[in-house]
Amino acid sequence: MSAPLVDGWGREIKSLRVSVTDRCNFRCRYCMPAEGLEWLRRDEVLSFEEITRIVRVLAGMGVNEIRLTGGEPLVRRDLPQLVEMIAATPGVDDLSLTTNGVLLDRLAAPLVQAGLRRINVSLDSLSHVRFAEITRRDALDRVLAGLEEAEHYPELRPIKVNCVAIRGFTEEEVPALAELARQKPYIVRFIEFMPLDADETWRGDEVLTGEEIRALIEERWPLVEVPAKASSTAKRFRFADGAGEVGFVNPVSEPFCSSCDRIRLTADGELRTCLFSRREWDLKAPLRDGVSDEQLANLIRWAVRHKELKHRINEPGFVRASRSMSQIGG
Ligand code: SAM
Repeated sequence: MSAPLVDGWGREIKSLRVSVTDRCNFRCRYCMPAEGLEWLRRDEVLSFEEITRIVRVLAGMGVNEIRLTGGEPLVRRDLPQLVEMIAATPGVDDLSLTTNGVLLDRLAAPLVQAGLRRINVSLDSLSHVRFAEITRRDALDRVLAGLEEAEHYPELRPIKVNCVAIRGFTEEEVPALAELARQKPYIVRFIEFMPLDADETWRGDEVLTGEEIRALIEERWPLVEVPAKASSTAKRFRFADGAGEVGFVNPVSEPFCSSCDRIRLTADGELRTCLFSRREWDLKAPLRDGVSDEQLANLIRWAVRHKELKHRINEPGFVRASRSMSQIGG
């Protein structure tokens, strides 16, 4: 293995998020416009071989955690094949996937068979009407069926359910989602709404903080904090009576940039060193021009040396990222 991948502020990079497509079959209000976005052309999207090569080079520098995302990763054809290729890459010891879950009932089995070991399913409401309101799709039953299917595979753990926390919407969802965490083997996590919506309507006062949601849950069920890994983005809590776990990812109210150990690869082969980057580093052109692994590693090291110190959401003059969430890969 070559030297670890360290940024200009001394943080070691251990984790890569790979967007396998910019396309999505949902139109979540906090992410995409109703009419969708202009999709990448097929030839602009990295092939499985190109993705796996980048993963292999990164794994050689100590990046051992890979998460597949999108857009909606399950709409990429033959995704289990990519999972198999990445799972077989030396140095990758944690391979996970973030999905809206709507195709999971069909794909859980082949994904597990290919080597997937962890899954996050996004779910913002347990009411059919409100689910359709937020995602602009009537698909709650399919998502719940996908989760049920995932439960059948004990190798696929933990199952995390992610909910974007938006003031004026999520408060009403909290009791049912907390109940879900108590009844099912799912860790339900609330993620603060970030200014990454394509419609650019985000306002600071729409962020429902993790602390506020915790207080709402504790009105009914006391919680006990569980120690988390230093690099973890989530604060973890178990129900005091032992019936399950919830988590809070608070990038706006309690930024965790100082322990950030991740970088991102967009579907079109741009390396991003921060969710809120204004600058990207093209890996696709050099890959297609025939760079060596060593040249690729050097390019990546150079980009990572310029990783942003922190996001500046809470600072005056904050400038939004150069792309929205679904185009980056959340
Ligand atoms: N389609 C997949 C899914 O739904 O999980 C993967 C991609 S999606 C962009 C990844 C995560 O980003 C989802 O949990 C989604 O809810 C979250 N997300 C999208 N826009 C967001 C925003 N503006 N603020 C916070 N989270 C957001």
